[in-house]
Amino acid sequence: MQELVKQRTKMLETLPKIVGPVSVKVSDVHTGVWRYRRPVIRHDDCIRCGICAEYCPCGVIEKAEVMTVDYTYCKGCGICTVECPKKAIDFVLESEFEGEGDQ
Ligand code: SF4
Ligand code: SF4
Repeated sequence: MQELVKQRTKMLETLPKIVGPVSVKVSDVHTGVWRYRRPVIRHDDCIRCGICAEYCPCGVIEKAEVMTVDYTYCKGCGICTVECPKKAIDFVLESEFEGEGDQ
């Protein structure tokens, strides 16, 4: 867990300075089945700016080759979908989600 926090802090230092809340919190509580919606990134529209990762209060979005969400811990708050400057994150009802992924 501490290593993940260090990695996130390092990543934040590489991003352009933005005004707003910044979090390096990392959720260690499994979400379970109660999440109502999940964020689904449209990779064709994503510019990998990292802003969603910066705003996610649970710290569950990774900036890798493509941006990824760890659905085991994502709480479905929707902040990432609001903050994405390209509006590249759909906020999909769990009952209508058809892709692969846990929970
Ligand atoms: S904020 Fe939007 S465009 Fe930026 S990395 Fe996240 S999904 Fe991609
Ligand atoms: S919905 Fe909330 S918890 Fe899930 S990835 Fe987006 S900002 Fe993080």
